[in-house]
Amino acid sequence: MTLSCPRCHTAFVVPRRRAQTTATAIGGVAGAIQGASSAMTEAKGGDPMGVIASAIFGGLLGGAAGCAAGAVIGAPIDQVLPDSFRCQACGYVFDASRTDPALT
Ligand SMILES: [Zn+2]
Repeated sequence: MTLSCPRCHTAFVVPRRRAQTTATAIGGVAGAIQGASSAMTEAKGGDPMGVIASAIFGGLLGGAAGCAAGAVIGAPIDQVLPDSFRCQACGYVFDASRTDPALT
């Protein structure tokens, strides 16, 4: 299904993804902290460079996993939020549920 702007009827419509962007950022930060701390706990007792390397690697892995989880969680929230699409041609913001194909 191709969305078109209800005002100017062009197809230059992009999802705003407010919830997905927010959830991805939160997930990335939370995942990085979780990944780094658990990697450091696992590497404890080893040499200091190994602990630091583990923290960095764990943080990167955790951050990537958190971003992915946030994107998955945020996407359905964006579906139910009003004004979830924006027209790049005229700047009009609209809700996808209001774009009934029979009316356009
Ligand atoms: Zn438009």
